[in-house]
Amino acid sequence: MPDIINLLPDSVANQIAAGEVIQRPASAVKELMENAVDAGASEIKLIIKDAGKTLIQVIDNGCGMSPTDARMSFERHATSKIRNPEDLFHIRTMGFRGEALASIAAIAQVELKTKLHDKDIGTKIVVEGSRLITQNEEVTNSGTSFAIRNLFFNTPARRNFLKSDGQENRHITEEFIRVALIHPEIHFSYTDNSQQKFLLTPGSFKQRIVALFGKQLLNKLLAVEESTTVVEIQGFVGKPETARKTRGEQYFFVNERFIKHPYLNHAVIAAFDDLIPDGSFPTYFLHLKVDPELIDVNIHPTKTEVNFRDEKAIYSILRAAVKMSLGKFSLSPQIDFDVETSINLTPPPPGTPIRPPQVRVNPNYNPFENEEDNRLSSASNFQTRPSQGFEKPQQNWEQLFEKSDFEKSLSDELSPATFSSFKFEDFKYESLNNEYLVAVSGNGLLIVDRRAAHERVLYDRFAAMSEAGRGASQRKIFTEILSFSAPDAELVVDLLDDLLAMGFEIIPRENNDFEVVGAPPDLADEPLQSIIEGMLDFYKLNKMELRIDRRRNLLLSMARNLSIRPGQSINNEEVQALMQALSESSVPSESPSGKKVFRWLNSSEISQLFKS
Ligand code: ADP
Ligand code: MG
Repeated sequence: MPDIINLLPDSVANQIAAGEVIQRPASAVKELMENAVDAGASEIKLIIKDAGKTLIQVIDNGCGMSPTDARMSFERHATSKIRNPEDLFHIRTMGFRGEALASIAAIAQVELKTKLHDKDIGTKIVVEGSRLITQNEEVTNSGTSFAIRNLFFNTPARRNFLKSDGQENRHITEEFIRVALIHPEIHFSYTDNSQQKFLLTPGSFKQRIVALFGKQLLNKLLAVEESTTVVEIQGFVGKPETARKTRGEQYFFVNERFIKHPYLNHAVIAAFDDLIPDGSFPTYFLHLKVDPELIDVNIHPTKTEVNFRDEKAIYSILRAAVKMSLGKFSLSPQIDFDVETSINLTPPPPGTPIRPPQVRVNPNYNPFENEEDNRLSSASNFQTRPSQGFEKPQQNWEQLFEKSDFEKSLSDELSPATFSSFKFEDFKYESLNNEYLVAVSGNGLLIVDRRAAHERVLYDRFAAMSEAGRGASQRKIFTEILSFSAPDAELVVDLLDDLLAMGFEIIPRENNDFEVVGAPPDLADEPLQSIIEGMLDFYKLNKMELRIDRRRNLLLSMARNLSIRPGQSINNEEVQALMQALSESSVPSESPSGKKVFRWLNSSEISQLFKS
């Protein structure tokens, strides 16, 4: 039998490797930006066209490359960053595996222009699908420019796998943020389809955070600082009020490298303890400096995971440091400093199993739920379309009656006819705990979940508006400027049309600011900023947990977020308006998110309750 094993040609090997390193345009952005940082650049420009599908360009004023290095840089395992195995334990650069450029060149058309600072003339190289097309001398600026065109041009399956431009752009922005955030000393710019998205001038870490995530954070950051032999910690946590319902602004960096680390994330959450409700996510931007010998970043091609040797010690130090900074601002008066300062810094003996912390997450938590403010200024909050009479819902009674397992459990023989003359607005409601409405009629007891009812009413109204294409919008006399973090801002841009359909007229302005010129006429009294933030949070949460189409997701998010909270008091007029509106709904029994709106107990069921 002939020998059958071949060595793969480099171009094929590179394509395979590319699958690991370059998953989408954003991965190329990350690699190129990290190379520019490694090259010691003080200015880095990112230029994107069509979500990176047409062009990704990174221009830096770093050290540049000689003609030979320029050529070499595209070879697999070509790196200037490590020379021998020991170097792996002292890594201070972002890259070191020497596979990024080889991978990118395998699946795109790449044009490199580069020049060393002390040379007059530079080099231009064009590579396409791992093939060198041209190499010439070129008059160019000191530093390096990589232009990546037609990513995945020769791997159509991967190209087709790319998501919408909006989604790919969000990934790119996220990678840009991760690099720009931890290098506030570097000047960055980001141009997207010829529009400037970011212009970041050198400054402090705090200034960079605010430049990237919005002015609303300015007075809400608490400094975290700690220096021990094991780790040095610098950075900021957001005051508890900045905690979000979805994982939002949470950034860990280790030796200037963005990492994901659930165990350390838990340390921060533990420090917040009961300052934030279970299941909500604190905001943080934390930089840990650790002796490179004590970490291993070489465990994953994209290098976003890091193993620490002293993980347990770092956990305690981090938690204590965050607690301390929360305490300093007298937000957490019960800190037990004696306990926290007696941290045991000796690392556990090698091989000691470390039990992962148990994280309890309550997916239904809504941080706005406890707000005491009375957002409902008038009964108009409950009004729906003009009244269509009360007959309509009755045809659904049978169906909704059948659906309720509560009723089923209590009585199987109840006839739907009992409800033929049932009208919500005919009852006289009492409030129970500012959460339920209770009404007694001749033959039974009705219990309504106020919020579920209101959600149903709002959902129906927004759905009708959105179907009509354009929601009722009231022009604002004083327009309002809202300011969002970059990822939220992109989401808002993505949803602009849908928001307009629901009555929010929003115009994007510079720097992730938005001007609201119109809003649905009977919004709650809450500031628009928090209404929209709450909606975005809920939207993102739905997107993660459920696969529902975006219009429905937005409708759900709006209904949920604008609905009345438990604990909020509403007057009789408002109750009546709510119940009237509910009776006009075609699905009064169920909230849009599937919760029961009401329960009905008839007299025989009530007597059942007292039978032992
Ligand atoms: P790595 O970063 O892991 O070394 P890459 O494939 O990303 O591998 O880059 C290969 C080499 O090309 C780098 O080690 C570096 O010497 C050189 N290089 C890449 N980008 C730049 C740049 N922007 N400026 C200067 N040199 C660069
Ligand atoms: Mg690199």
